[in-house]
Amino acid sequence: MRIFSPSNIAVDFGKTLKSNEFIAMLRREVLDSFLRSRAASAGATVIPALVTAIDLPPSPTAPYTIHYTLQNTYRRSLAVDVVIGADGANSRVAKSIGAGDYTCAIAFQERIKLPDEKMAYYENLAEMYVGNDVSPDFYGWVFPKCDHVAVGTGTVRSKQDIKLYQKGIRDRVHHKIKGGKLIKVEAHPIPEHPRPLRVRGRVALVGDAAGYVTKCSGEGIYFAAKSGRVCGNAVVKASEGGYKMIDECDLRREYLKIWDKEYVNTFRFLDLLQRVFYGSNAAREALVELCGDEYVQRMTFESYLYKKLAKGRVFDDAKMVMNTIGSLVKCNILGRKMEGLIL
Ligand SMILES: Cc1cc2nc3c(=O)[nH]c(=O)nc-3n(C[C@H](O)[C@H](O)[C@H](O)COP(=O)(O)OP(=O)(O)OC[C@H]3O[C@@H](n4cnc5c(N)ncnc54)[C@H](O)[C@@H]3O)c2cc1C
Repeated sequence: MRIFSPSNIAVDFGKTLKSNEFIAMLRREVLDSFLRSRAASAGATVIPALVTAIDLPPSPTAPYTIHYTLQNTYRRSLAVDVVIGADGANSRVAKSIGAGDYTCAIAFQERIKLPDEKMAYYENLAEMYVGNDVSPDFYGWVFPKCDHVAVGTGTVRSKQDIKLYQKGIRDRVHHKIKGGKLIKVEAHPIPEHPRPLRVRGRVALVGDAAGYVTKCSGEGIYFAAKSGRVCGNAVVKASEGGYKMIDECDLRREYLKIWDKEYVNTFRFLDLLQRVFYGSNAAREALVELCGDEYVQRMTFESYLYKKLAKGRVFDDAKMVMNTIGSLVKCNILGRKMEGLIL
């Protein structure tokens, strides 16, 4: 992982990874079909269909009715006891239970097939770029996708300018992607925080439908998979393996409570980091400077890889705080903030 500051200072950011640790890069089309076939081989009946509406039950134990269309033509319905809405940021399941809205960022990326010699550079390398040119509040990226790269960016503050920022990241990596062939363009909303409601009756939301994407890194795949598993386990446990009807209290106790206990602090911490470090070019220079510090790298990757806020050593933590303050002062952030306070 290499991170580039607004003035293009580059810092290698994976020096502390152990030999068995890595940052996974994947293609969703491959992962999704792998997950679908694994679900089928574990006994799930996969119905490739578009859900069009969900009727809520007339009584606490009556079934939900899911209406769906097969091959854009055939209308069908299915009666079910429990619904887990894993249908992304525009979730129809969320709408059907009145789960409320969340603020969204937009992420945009272009999949580009590079000439072999240019692809060789990205074979084992992911790049992050920060700066007002690539995003006012997020980062731009070049991520390797096996035989091509994804070049993209995101923003919440200035969604109408997303194409401008995409041009910004393309310009920054111009010489590295020159001669590449555009093979796919993708753009999608990314939730900024959880929905006001994630469980109602026997319906639960997971992944983007619930709003589980971390600020700062924009990571949502892990949390989508993990929340699906926690929620699935909750249903199995509360229904005693499918023999007992569950209710909203079961889902709150076995899913939401466990999820929030495990991850709320991680989400809050990354929200804070984004607000401190992505706000201006001076703060981004400080961020990249800090990323060069081995202790910062180790703490970051331990938190990222194991999804727990890493426990540090008191002396090193104090040093990290001092370094952070030092970088912010040097890059004129705290100085200006202090001036603002004095004035
Ligand atoms: C450009 C971009 C880059 C990203 N990069 C990263 C990254 O590098 N790392 C990372 O961790 N996260 C990344 N994210 C975020 C990540 O993609 C999401 O957080 C993650 O995909 C959420 O998974 P999900 O299963 O909850 O939702 P989704 O991946 O959106 O899946 C929802 C599924 O539900 C289906 N669906 C929706 N409505 C219906 C319906 N009515 N009927 C039937 N099916 C329906 C959809 O077809 C889809 O298959 C990125 C997002 C974008 C947009």
